[in-house]
Amino acid sequence: MSHSPATRTTPFDTLLVANRGEIACRVMRTARRMGLRTVAVYSDADATARHVREADEAVRLGPAAARESYLDIAAVVEAAQRTGAGAIHPGYGFLSENGAFVEALDAAGITFVGPPASAIAAMGDKSAAKARMANAGVPLVPGYHGDDQDDALLKAEADEIGYPVLLKASAGGGGKGMRVVESGEQFQAALDGCRRESQAAFGDTRMLIEKYLTQPRHVEVQVFCDSHGNGVYLFERDCSVQRRHQKVLEEAPAPGMTAALRREMGEAAVRAAKEIGYVGAGTVEFLLDADGSFYFMEMNTRLQVEHPVTEMITGQDLVEWQLRVAMGEALPLAQEALTITGHSFEARLYAEDPEQDFLPATGTLTRFAMDLAGAGLDPERVRLDSGVETGDAVSMHYDPMLAKLIVHGDDREQALATLNRALAALDVQGVVTNRAFLQRLATHPAFQSAELDTRFIEKNEATLF
Ligand code: ADP
Repeated sequence: MSHSPATRTTPFDTLLVANRGEIACRVMRTARRMGLRTVAVYSDADATARHVREADEAVRLGPAAARESYLDIAAVVEAAQRTGAGAIHPGYGFLSENGAFVEALDAAGITFVGPPASAIAAMGDKSAAKARMANAGVPLVPGYHGDDQDDALLKAEADEIGYPVLLKASAGGGGKGMRVVESGEQFQAALDGCRRESQAAFGDTRMLIEKYLTQPRHVEVQVFCDSHGNGVYLFERDCSVQRRHQKVLEEAPAPGMTAALRREMGEAAVRAAKEIGYVGAGTVEFLLDADGSFYFMEMNTRLQVEHPVTEMITGQDLVEWQLRVAMGEALPLAQEALTITGHSFEARLYAEDPEQDFLPATGTLTRFAMDLAGAGLDPERVRLDSGVETGDAVSMHYDPMLAKLIVHGDDREQALATLNRALAALDVQGVVTNRAFLQRLATHPAFQSAELDTRFIEKNEATLF
């Protein structure tokens, strides 16, 4: 495979992390271990935040509002130039999937720890991405993703697919511009509604239609490619436990996978990545139907929030892989050398109130601690990735995720028992969190017996709230 001209492989000794919170701290931890100098960036709301305290150097970007700080491309590039940072890790969210940002870095001669801008663009539009994936032989949900957007044609396509169908904004993301249509009579009203929503959110009204799967699981595959044409998969994660399309609990490996299905999905994911000239860490999301059929949903062209469960079962540090690939090295391991050991869960701790429809919560953390020894927990098996410490303020400016609790066990049952003990050992005071809700999820009989699908929370509402 040829080198993409946009992929720089200049060595670097200073890494700027263009993010905040737990992911900024997590990326810097590996960077330090690799002997790199770390630069943090911050907004006025984060001047004393943990990621700033932990960095070798920190640069102010601007006011609290993300678009004036963490999303300000020029300010981030200038911060890198000022501190001699040869590379930028974007974390997730913010500028991590912003093609214009990658192009700005290319122009400035700064290495982007992530894929080329062309790969981000290829996956940015859902319809275009599906067309590319069909080419690469990656299975798609039956549906329509064509250019012709005539109302009558879309209706005819929906009739042909068979109801229920899911209308999705081509330019969509974050669950916006998406509607289930139960019957032909509802189609026009749903189409109008989706178009309005998509126009408002993305300035674009193009729609695609998919067969609506009624009980799918969300199973995603971690892939990695280097700039020398190598690609591997680091197995799958099950992220079916979602609230309003937001993941809450994730695990790896996915329960009930056969070796054959794992290989089939893994190889499809690597084909997807290679089709678009991918470099770095990426995630190919699939819907997995009860009959074992799987369908491409989208590719996230960045490190995911839930990457630690993959690290736990493979024993690999994915941020180290990212940095090595960005330095131009080949992938550390070949497919045959990657194996799964045990089982891992991740629970996302949010500053939000489950009793008040998950309203984001703010305040000062008068205590944020986890007594592992006191709870008899093995520090090798429990990991708390956090962006906060006791005394820190939680504001309403950014994502309310405070930390991720990640555990490992020899099998699913043991890992789940550890998750429950670790959740109980987590002591958070001063800010309302979803901890008790996570405990109810993790002790729920249906979750314990892995009866998973994307409507898990909805279906078990009566016993979860
Ligand atoms: P977004 O980019 O807005 O997050 P996705 O296409 O990733 O949208 O879909 C978000 C979620 O919606 C998925 O995780 C899954 O739970 C559900 N979903 C998506 N497509 C389908 C489908 N065809 N049938 C059933 N559920 C779906």
